[in-house]
Amino acid sequence: HTPPKYIGRFAPSPTGPLHLGSLIAAVASYLDAKSQQGLWLLRMEDLDPPREQAGAAENILQCLQAHGLHWHGEVLWQSQQQQRYQAAVEQLIATGKAFYCRCSRSQLAQQQGIHAGNCQAQAPYTGCAVRLRVTEQSLSFNDPLQGRVQQLLHREVGDFVIQRKDQFYAYQLAAVLDDALQGVTHVVRGSDLLDSTPRQIFLQQQLALPTPQYVHIPVITNSAGHKLSKQTFAPALSPQQACQNLLKALYFLQQPLPPKSQQHDCSQILQWATAHWSLKAVPHCTAIDEITLQHFAC
Ligand code: GLU
Repeated sequence: HTPPKYIGRFAPSPTGPLHLGSLIAAVASYLDAKSQQGLWLLRMEDLDPPREQAGAAENILQCLQAHGLHWHGEVLWQSQQQQRYQAAVEQLIATGKAFYCRCSRSQLAQQQGIHAGNCQAQAPYTGCAVRLRVTEQSLSFNDPLQGRVQQLLHREVGDFVIQRKDQFYAYQLAAVLDDALQGVTHVVRGSDLLDSTPRQIFLQQQLALPTPQYVHIPVITNSAGHKLSKQTFAPALSPQQACQNLLKALYFLQQPLPPKSQQHDCSQILQWATAHWSLKAVPHCTAIDEITLQHFAC
């Protein structure tokens, strides 16, 4: 049988409960997938235990379900993928594409945080970070909302960490390996990850993995211009308000809202929104102030 043409995903980090900002990303990726008869997968990015909050992962899954956002198949838990990450790190080291790094924070600070291949230790040192060596090539991709995005990795990022000093695997590595494992063809996510994408494309090239289509939707910011997040004390979504939350997310994404008579339950709202989804209508910017939602009343 032929593989699906569209595989999308939502990949929350269990650092806290779902808030409106994360719901917007979930809804956008869900609708884009469903409107193209695609699959929508769920990946729990629980690869950074020091930043995790007890119970957050289960809470996120329940909250998504309360909003009628049902994923296809089993959840992929990154905490269970360590061996695959380790194998990729070893392969990149063996082929000379990655190296152990012993630079201290203060050494890196002297070069504006940009690592330029000046400390390459040969032997496997324990307690070292592993970095991927970047090249002077410029990385670019076309984002349907953000236009052409280009980055010179060696100037703007430098050799970057794929396994941290504390031995946890870096988000960049895990996300790339798992997008490939899950066969993801389309990534729809917040613009806060826009400058990670060239690193992820570079990693795909180094590992001979396909590059999905990337779409970065605007993030929602508070009046101080900060992205809604656990750090900015974004309130947790109330599952009792699920329909209202979905409508707010649609309003933020500038999608048409279902006529009042049809506002029955979450699954009906999502069905209607899938049929009327227009990626082009999503604002072509990187951030929108939450104040715009104050005009939203239903
Ligand atoms: N886990 C990341 C986050 O919650 C998202 C990763 C992704 O969509 O690539 O910010």
